[in-house]
Amino acid sequence: MRPQRFDIAIIGSGFAGSLLAMIARRLGRSVVLLEKGSHPRIVIGESSTPLANLLLEELVDRYDLPQLRPFCKWGSWQKAYPEVACGLKRGFTFYHHDLDRPAPAVHDRERQLLVAASPADEIADTHWYRADVDAHFVSSAVDCGVTYLDHVQLDSPEFDRDVVRLSGRRGREPVTFEADFVVDASGPRGFLHSSLPLTERDLPGYPRTHALYSHFRGVERLGGEDGAPYPVDDAAVHHVFDRGWIWVLRFNNGVTSAGVAATEELAGELRLSEGAPAWQRLIAALPDLRRQFAHAQPLYEFRYIPNLSFRSGQITGERWALLPSAAGFVDPLLSTGFPLTLFGIERLAQLMETGKLHDPGALSMYAEQTDQDLLATAHLTAALYSSMNDFQTFTARTMLYFAAASYSESARRLGNAHLAPGFLLRKHLVFSRRMRELAEAPPDANLAQEIREGIQPFNVAGLSNPARRNWYPALAEDLIESAHKLGATEDEVVAMLKRCGFNAPQPVLQ
Ligand SMILES: Cc1cc2nc3c(=O)[nH]c(=O)nc-3n(C[C@H](O)[C@H](O)[C@H](O)COP(=O)(O)OP(=O)(O)OC[C@H]3O[C@@H](n4cnc5c(N)ncnc54)[C@H](O)[C@@H]3O)c2cc1C
Repeated sequence: MRPQRFDIAIIGSGFAGSLLAMIARRLGRSVVLLEKGSHPRIVIGESSTPLANLLLEELVDRYDLPQLRPFCKWGSWQKAYPEVACGLKRGFTFYHHDLDRPAPAVHDRERQLLVAASPADEIADTHWYRADVDAHFVSSAVDCGVTYLDHVQLDSPEFDRDVVRLSGRRGREPVTFEADFVVDASGPRGFLHSSLPLTERDLPGYPRTHALYSHFRGVERLGGEDGAPYPVDDAAVHHVFDRGWIWVLRFNNGVTSAGVAATEELAGELRLSEGAPAWQRLIAALPDLRRQFAHAQPLYEFRYIPNLSFRSGQITGERWALLPSAAGFVDPLLSTGFPLTLFGIERLAQLMETGKLHDPGALSMYAEQTDQDLLATAHLTAALYSSMNDFQTFTARTMLYFAAASYSESARRLGNAHLAPGFLLRKHLVFSRRMRELAEAPPDANLAQEIREGIQPFNVAGLSNPARRNWYPALAEDLIESAHKLGATEDEVVAMLKRCGFNAPQPVLQ
């Protein structure tokens, strides 16, 4: 019997594979989505950002996927899909710790950085409880007419002149599919990377990092100080220390995701590869976390990732492409995985839409952009890793990220996406050059001031303002005052804020 033939085969049914599959269907392509496991399943990578949510919103609007639009904000998600678990993310919370001299950080304003991403819960970002979200996306893909098969173990693909043949087994049954084009959405060192096989490339200047994580029940809230820009636990919470950091993300189903990422050197000192005992030792050493995790129970055995960062030597070829999440990864410190992946989906969708999926020039442009986005992320993340022992420098450098991200989001929301080219504005000649210089600038007493001046033309969120003492609420007035930087009038910014539901009362700062 002749194998079934599809326009597009997508390997891996995380949210990204399913989303691209739905878009391809909307563009009239036949699609097979092949998954080696099954849903629901445990998967890490959960925290969204304003830019990620906006990219998702743009994709679902452009490709007529209204069923996914509620996932772009906490409020609409709660109304439309209360059964799909998620967490409330009002911002980025950072605390600084010294592993040699541990002391509580939660009530010490000098050792914290709170950057709000939204003024109110209704329009806030979310942590995606991926077991639920990915299962939902797959079933939505099936509703869109995607042919979905789980438990598929694929052998190496065969590339003929006009077709890609994918063979393997599903249980005991041999299976074969033919496709015009294959997209690999199977994550780092995934299907095509290992089966073709592809080489790995260095991430220049980037430290090797390791991670250890689980999901827990019974994690207490940290609680914070009165007057903070948002409840500190309703955020992506980062506990930073020399050469490493811990993340804590709370979901509305009583589950909390937590883990540690550390340089190879620190991972060795902490003996992270031992799993649970290493986690317990680390938590016991940090008073805030010891209190928070006193009654916490991991839901499954700790998972250890020995080498987090990854950069594929090749990203596209004739009849195939890796999604950004299969082409590389650095570290979750700045929640960059979702936006990088969504930018890649946007680029591939455009190639499908314009009939250029088989155009070698267009494919190599996709590869180049995917790689450059990764390198820009790696450069900034490496600078942050190198300053984790010095919170003032770390905080000053994070402003480069927050300035680029908030500027990009605002410009796009105002219809001025051309002002914010590339992830982290990496294609903006002025900003990208300054970003590179400032990320590499020595950590001296002038750095914060230099960064404040460097980001000034792009600073639409009152960032780097010493008077705010590391608490940055989401204030409408900051955006309105910055209208000219965004190529807009104040009235246009006010109208944009209204469209986004940005009309909640502002917090009072102390
Ligand atoms: C520790 C950690 C924390 C992270 N935290 C964040 C965060 O907070 N925010 C953020 O934006 N990003 C984060 N990321 C990145 C994020 O995980 C990815 O960007 C995101 O998961 C990409 O989704 P995806 O659907 O492409 O891939 P995945 O979620 O990795 O899904 C890949 C799918 O492919 C399947 N698969 C694998 N191999 C095969 C095969 N051979 N055949 C068929 N199927 C296969 C897998 O079973 C899986 O279902 C984190 C990553 C790590 C490692």
